[in-house]
Amino acid sequence: MGLFDLISSDIGIDLGTANTLVWVRGVGIVLNEPSVVATEVSTGRILAVGAAAKEMIGRTPEAIRAVRPLKDGVIADFEITEKLLSDFIRRVVRHRYLMKPKVIVSVPSGITEVEKRAVRDSAENAGAREVYLLQEPMAAAIGVGLPVDQPSGNMIIDVGGGTSEIAVIALSGIVNNISIRIAGDEMNEAIVLYLKKNYNLLIGELSAEDIKVRVGSAFALDREESMEIRGRDLIAGVPKTMKLSSVQVREALSEPVDAIIEAVRQSLERTPPELSADILDRGIILTGGGALLRGLDKRLRQETNLPVIVADDPLTCVVRGTGRVLENMAIYSKVLMKSRRD
Ligand code: ADP
Ligand code: MG
Repeated sequence: MGLFDLISSDIGIDLGTANTLVWVRGVGIVLNEPSVVATEVSTGRILAVGAAAKEMIGRTPEAIRAVRPLKDGVIADFEITEKLLSDFIRRVVRHRYLMKPKVIVSVPSGITEVEKRAVRDSAENAGAREVYLLQEPMAAAIGVGLPVDQPSGNMIIDVGGGTSEIAVIALSGIVNNISIRIAGDEMNEAIVLYLKKNYNLLIGELSAEDIKVRVGSAFALDREESMEIRGRDLIAGVPKTMKLSSVQVREALSEPVDAIIEAVRQSLERTPPELSADILDRGIILTGGGALLRGLDKRLRQETNLPVIVADDPLTCVVRGTGRVLENMAIYSKVLMKSRRD
């Protein structure tokens, strides 16, 4: 008998635009994979889900399609989202017919009613007994350990793949929330565009992500770095390598980074003064994979004059939040959206 056969299999899911993570009650994080599905074009058959499918992005022959069903922060493809969810749920829940799990799914706060229903249906089809939805910024705040039920205000900035969410939370509710579709993906695209425009060099999405993670930044580095990159020369049509510096990458990233800062400014302007005073004391918490962009915290500090703290392990805050709610349902009932069948 495996571990999962012995325990309750209630689960929390961070259904992210870039990565999906699953928490099993009493165990912790059991799955962390890219939100990517590879299908055969002619039949629609699923070939791979998760990490194996992500490796196919930009490398697929015509007959195979690697899709990110949640790419822009909304569910672009219901059917594929459902396949992704069921695959992941099935991987962690063995006895789904004996002990149907309770499932909490954290979803982008901009999600529509139709999309909420799609998430609930997918989770139910995948074997869930009860499905609860939790707004992402709330999940992130709980995952970080913020006292979300207190009257004092907290600001959370979650920079994910498809969306950046800026939320002020107090008394178990989201006081104001700004969601923009500019985050990690846009940063990758900005790098692709920069190289194309300035060097006639074409690179793929995954290479751009690699460049961002390795030498990307939002603030001058103490010691600037460089790396060798490869792509296709658009004029000669042949593979080419060149050296790229962190200064250049920062320039390439300036537009998406500025857009995130602008959204933070807007959010601060909309925040009631009492809560602003709290944020001045407690600072802004950065979560999501984008929080790992070097110097993003410094840059935000410089632009807002507020303390900015990068959460511990920012990529797992949301799923840890769903886990904490799962383990303390009574305490957190106020923050959940029970999705009803109607
Ligand atoms: P989502 O919640 O939308 O699935 P995540 O919070 O998982 O997104 O973050 C994924 C994003 O974080 C991707 O765009 C990825 O490139 C980016 N990311 C991950 N690590 C880093 C890093 N070290 N520097 C900059 N961006 C990063
Ligand atoms: Mg996320």
